[in-house]
Amino acid sequence: MKKIKDVVVPFFQGRYGVDKFSKFLTRLSIVLLILGLLFGLWFFILLGLAIIIYSDFRIFSMKFNKRYMEEQAYINFVNKLKFETERRINICKDLKVNKIVKCPNCGQKIRLPRKKGKISIRCSTCNIEFIKRT
Ligand SMILES: [Zn+2]
Repeated sequence: MKKIKDVVVPFFQGRYGVDKFSKFLTRLSIVLLILGLLFGLWFFILLGLAIIIYSDFRIFSMKFNKRYMEEQAYINFVNKLKFETERRINICKDLKVNKIVKCPNCGQKIRLPRKKGKISIRCSTCNIEFIKRT
């Protein structure tokens, strides 16, 4: 009689396994299933089940290169999203301290410190001088 170990171990050998992307997919499917079950949203339940099936397909896949490429694409996407979010937060922080005005002549955007009263500004593009309240 075969032991469970003799069946299970060979099955998992050569499989891709769990990576960051499959962990994300599993968490996403759990959220979708909970929301779908709580609010009776069948589309969420079906989508959650489809994502679980896809995630398991990836985990048990033997095509390492394809799965690795998918994970890299996922990591690149997440990094871009983080970078863009940080950039926007920094712009919001900067706008509390500085103000953007347009040159009345050429439309060039110029960054000025806030709360400095009326100041004279020289446009770096067209070299015209104008006065703005900051
Ligand atoms: Zn100008």
